[in-house]
Amino acid sequence: MAENGLEENRQVKNTVGFVTPTKKSRYNDTNGEVKSVTKKRDNYIGWDEYFMSVAFLSAQRSKDPSSQVGACIVNQEKKIVGIGYNGMPNNCGDDELPWGKEGDWLDQKYAYVCHAEMNAIMNKNSSDVKDCTIYVALFPCNECAKLIIQSGIKRIMYLSDKHHDKPATQASKRMLDLAQVEYVKYIPKKHKVVIDFYEIDPESRPRPSSSIMSP
Ligand SMILES: [Zn+2]
Repeated sequence: MAENGLEENRQVKNTVGFVTPTKKSRYNDTNGEVKSVTKKRDNYIGWDEYFMSVAFLSAQRSKDPSSQVGACIVNQEKKIVGIGYNGMPNNCGDDELPWGKEGDWLDQKYAYVCHAEMNAIMNKNSSDVKDCTIYVALFPCNECAKLIIQSGIKRIMYLSDKHHDKPATQASKRMLDLAQVEYVKYIPKKHKVVIDFYEIDPESRPRPSSSIMSP
């Protein structure tokens, strides 16, 4: 047992096959008997990691070949009220409009794509998004900053500000500062969050083709 009363980590398998460390602590009950109690796991992801990961999971739905962006809006009760990713407007076929970045303006995606922030706001499942936080992969552009301000969102948490020197980002920050919308860079506590279906359930791994030969 460690000095702090916690037993050494012990690896156990939970019900879905994850190997997760467990901790027990010891205490003396009213009769002076030494008892032990299982402690909660402590390698769970934090709120910010959770919501930022949801934004990135959403981005995986994007059809954009060059930029996949996700957004996740969270209210003050830490409930998700909107999720979105960049894509063509509703009922405009993904194959009908251009995804490129060059040529005539009418042949560029910029004329058509709805950004993740817009979709997350429009997809909201609550009456409004006032005082919410929006988690986004990229610092919002000036058009999304307008939407964020008008919707009442009060805080932006972003991962990347790689376009910080572009006029669109500078205009965005100018408006956000005036409207007193806070923006905070997300600093990851761990370098990746992995969902490995085969590790969770080895049974779902595809079988070698030889074993599914028809009779
Ligand atoms: Zn935007």
